[in-house]
Amino acid sequence: MAAGAKIHRNVTLHRLTADFFQFIRSQRPVIRRLGRPFQRSRRFVEMDITYRCNLRCGNCNRSCTQAPSDAALTIQDVGDFLAQSREQGARWDRIRLLGGEPTLHKDFFAILDLLLSYRADGHPALRIVVCTNGAGRKVNRVLDRLPEGVVVKNTFKNSRQRFFRPFNKAPIDAPLLHRFSDFSVGCRIIEECGLGLTPLGYYPCAIAGGIDRIFGFNLGRQRLPSPDDDMRDLLSVFCPLCGHFGVSGFTKKAKTSVAWEAAYAKYAQPPGISDPFQAVGAFTGRSSSIYGFYRIYFHGRLQIKWNAQDFSAQNSLNSKGRKTP
Ligand code: SF4
Ligand code: SF4
Repeated sequence: MAAGAKIHRNVTLHRLTADFFQFIRSQRPVIRRLGRPFQRSRRFVEMDITYRCNLRCGNCNRSCTQAPSDAALTIQDVGDFLAQSREQGARWDRIRLLGGEPTLHKDFFAILDLLLSYRADGHPALRIVVCTNGAGRKVNRVLDRLPEGVVVKNTFKNSRQRFFRPFNKAPIDAPLLHRFSDFSVGCRIIEECGLGLTPLGYYPCAIAGGIDRIFGFNLGRQRLPSPDDDMRDLLSVFCPLCGHFGVSGFTKKAKTSVAWEAAYAKYAQPPGISDPFQAVGAFTGRSSSIYGFYRIYFHGRLQIKWNAQDFSAQNSLNSKGRKTP
């Protein structure tokens, strides 16, 4: 590790405090009084150019450890994004390349060249950032060849697991805690990290694209969203599944709630085996109904059913403050 380099930590007092206030701000009574706390970014973009990674972190919020994949953005995808950015007159302040480990993309330098040409062609303020784990010779050989004017954000990870907040604990698996949550507000990541471009399309954050890869809703926008598209419909679907929503404790051991267990099991199956909106977990519980989109049935084993569109419609009703049926 370079002298003076800072170790990236997922758990800090600052982050835990921000999570707590984020949770309070995403509760429907607070939103009715203070308005929505987060807007999706029109300044920042994160591109998950590959889901390949040379590490196997237990908290990978792109599921590179839990469900490895060769899915990747192509040079064409990045070219289309830049062409549509020009059409819309977008002025990006920052574009980050991530993954997975972005330096493992086979066309990494070609993608970087496209971004550098875009910056040279009338976007001098654009910051191009490569986010890397900095682990291993192969990755570092690529980093050594980076052209001038590209910023490196190095997390200096290795095979030793650091503390993290579990990403695979879905809020829908904690229905009492999230009784009053409005998932359509998202979290601070949509402002701080920005619009996500992933191999499945555009999302309000790149993490949502990583969730969609596993759950298989296929809801990513296929063109660059227009500036007036808040993408609340996608937040309503993906935030209930994302461990970054709200508060959680921290750990060094992977924790996976029932919705994620089912989704990973489903992901590992050949297509067409069973209904993608049906998951079977291993908990026991009593019969109840939450929000109308998410129901728990007790049939000897817990069974969860949800429907993304029903949920989306329901959530928009909730955000207008109407009573949940
Ligand atoms: S280095 Fe990043 S992308 Fe790779 S497994 Fe760890 S968290 Fe996931
Ligand atoms: S999907 Fe996760 S990271 Fe993205 S806005 Fe929702 S809670 Fe935040």
